[in-house]
Amino acid sequence: MNTHDGMYIDGRWRPAAATDTIEVVNPADEQVIARVPAGTAEDIDAAVRAARAALPGWAATPPAERAVRLTALRDALTARVDEIAATITAELGSPLAFSRTVQTGLPIAVAGTFAELAASYSFEERIGNSTVLLEPVGVVGAITPWNYPLHQIVAKVAPALAAGCTVVLKPAENTPLTARLFAAAAHDAELPPGVFNLVTGVGDVAGAALAGHEDVDLVSFTGSTAVGRRIGATAGGAVKRVALELGGKSANVILPGADLAKAVRVGIAQVMSNSGQTCNAWTRMLVHRDQYDEAVELAVAAAATHVPGDRVGPLVSAAQRQRVRGHIERGAAEGARLVAGGPEAPRDTGYYVSPTVFADVTPGMTIAQEEIFGPVVALLRYEDEEDALRIANGTIYGLGGAVWAADDATAVAFARRMDTGQVDINGGRFNPLAPFGGYKQSGVGRELGAHGLAEYLQTKSLQF
Ligand code: NAD
Repeated sequence: MNTHDGMYIDGRWRPAAATDTIEVVNPADEQVIARVPAGTAEDIDAAVRAARAALPGWAATPPAERAVRLTALRDALTARVDEIAATITAELGSPLAFSRTVQTGLPIAVAGTFAELAASYSFEERIGNSTVLLEPVGVVGAITPWNYPLHQIVAKVAPALAAGCTVVLKPAENTPLTARLFAAAAHDAELPPGVFNLVTGVGDVAGAALAGHEDVDLVSFTGSTAVGRRIGATAGGAVKRVALELGGKSANVILPGADLAKAVRVGIAQVMSNSGQTCNAWTRMLVHRDQYDEAVELAVAAAATHVPGDRVGPLVSAAQRQRVRGHIERGAAEGARLVAGGPEAPRDTGYYVSPTVFADVTPGMTIAQEEIFGPVVALLRYEDEEDALRIANGTIYGLGGAVWAADDATAVAFARRMDTGQVDINGGRFNPLAPFGGYKQSGVGRELGAHGLAEYLQTKSLQF
């Protein structure tokens, strides 16, 4: 077991202010694999001061030079790709193949997109007799979750750096080792001291200190709606910018005429990947009543191909497994029909949950309304398109979604009426440059691409 000490502040690893530590557990075998320091308000304060001191120099660095450093960051991450993927598997539990491609390869590509955007983005525009300057917001406090540990960091830190902001990162307590590797890569990339800082710690202490710090200009948070609401309230009280990427209960709408077998198979796989721990997972599958029984059969067959320990990893922690099992028990108690999986542990060791499918789910049930964050799909029956739309839009969330139809035009017409930030049309693939973020209580703001970069800018108009 490795005991790590130190926080990455002002361009070097330095001792934490206090001696408390966080244990990092491998969720596949429940063994403690490492300890990292639990940061305090004192560590956060030191990191924010370093970020503040570095801000004028980094903000004044020409975007083309910031692009060079971001390219170096992408290359430094690439040089560590094996180590990062193995670390994500060890602390999150996702299967190694998934850790390499989605968990590591994708965020490295995203880092590259922000290197390119830093060089090509127009940080100035003309409007009539005005020149509008797009300037960095300032010091960013980034608070990230564990489900895609590297991606969530890159999706905040890379655009912030591209914009000319400096950053203090407080990563999730379950996955601090990936964050430490990111800090090592930032160091290798020779970012100026203080431009990027890392403080590991628990949410209520280090996270709260960062979210409430008076010298942070923008708080960017991804995680639960409950914590996001508190962070939004604190930021609102201080009149500071906030970006929130929160939960979801995304609908996979299969319209009559769609390729039913494909829509169900892809829909089940989309939820089961990362063991359902994906904020835009299509956890509600909506099927027309005439095709419903066939869809249930297809879903059961598809779920059986996702074997725990093989294609499906464990959940991140015992606490998450407990929550997910509670949802499964509640689904059964409220009258939904369990057709695959269930609350029983599929393996003796590790925080595994069986891929679970519920049929006969009605829109008012808890499992049709609340985010479960586990490998659980609810199949809902609809009468006609209006009914499908009512069900699709009938939650507090609006993050992702999918529509399958006989042709793209039919699917697009339906997607236009959905209250959600992203919709995949007939299996359209993920686009790392498309804005990602929520309608309704799924959040405030957008990540990725030019829209993601714009979150970290503020405007100044000069009149001539
Ligand atoms: P969480 O919201 O508690 O944690 C996310 C991050 O916020 C972590 O870094 C955590 O340390 C920090 N945090 C916690 N309390 C804080 C506070 N008071 N002030 C500032 N920062 C704080 O999420 P969780 O407990 O890890 O997961 C719980 C649920 O959140 C999940 O079951 C899921 O529903 C949801 N979730 C959503 C996403 C997403 O991508 N939208 C990611 C992870 C979890």
